[in-house]
Amino acid sequence: MRIWAVANQKGGVGKTTTVAALGGLLARGGKRVLVVDLDPHGSLTSWFGHDPDTIAHSAFDLFQHEGRVPEGLPARLLAETGCSGLSLLPASTALATLERRMVGVEGMGRIVSRALAQLWDDFDYVLLDNTPSLGVLMVNALAAAQHLVVPVQTEFLAIKGLERMLHTLEMIMRSQKNRLGYTIVPTLYDRRTQASVKSLNALRRSYPDELWRFAIPVDTKFRDASQAGLVPSEFDSETHGVRAYRRLLSDLLEQTSSSGGS
Ligand code: ADP
Ligand code: MG
Repeated sequence: MRIWAVANQKGGVGKTTTVAALGGLLARGGKRVLVVDLDPHGSLTSWFGHDPDTIAHSAFDLFQHEGRVPEGLPARLLAETGCSGLSLLPASTALATLERRMVGVEGMGRIVSRALAQLWDDFDYVLLDNTPSLGVLMVNALAAAQHLVVPVQTEFLAIKGLERMLHTLEMIMRSQKNRLGYTIVPTLYDRRTQASVKSLNALRRSYPDELWRFAIPVDTKFRDASQAGLVPSEFDSETHGVRAYRRLLSDLLEQTSSSGGS
């Protein structure tokens, strides 16, 4: 099982879209894929037609057992996506209450790792979608993941926040002794605008090793796909956005296999 976390402390940068796009492409390639919604907003859950306000069972249930994960529980929480080979561990809005309840509870940072350990033989790839806030859910994702994908909107303010965020992530990973490799993915790129072009160049200068060599372009089909409840490649497999994600996936697969599974 390979586990990738998609994270950025900023909202609206394409995290959820990245999870849906990569998840759909992996599933289409014949892999058994699980996407996990760790964002109390539940955008990924809504994408696949489930309502995070009313859903009966979700990732929230994992956190209700004093740091243990009862045998068989993770498998019972899985929901359909309508896409063959792709399963969802949904979010409910109740996840937002975890932050104040989990403080100081032993083992709460490894709940997601423990849940995924129970599903180890059932899935080839797991993609973790994250909330923008840095709390217990994000700590869980960083502890479980083997690689980190950081979507960054190509505009200057986003890049300023990136450095601070990477610094914080490094600190968490050091304390967890789980040092992840990461790939920075420029998103919402519009090559006709100066802001996009300049900020992509700035990213290249600052992160020559971690920056993905291409960028995900602005493509309105992503929003259409989410409204239709389909992964982007099923909605339209040949838009320039989907083609970019296909290239990203192939680079990520190559990168994570050459670094010994990281
Ligand atoms: P996040 O999960 O980081 O908050 P989302 O993936 O939900 O970001 O994207 C935020 C909004 O931007 C959504 O409406 C989504 O459809 C749209 N979006 C994401 N990526 C793109 C893109 N490459 N081109 C155009 N719109 C996009
Ligand atoms: Mg999101």
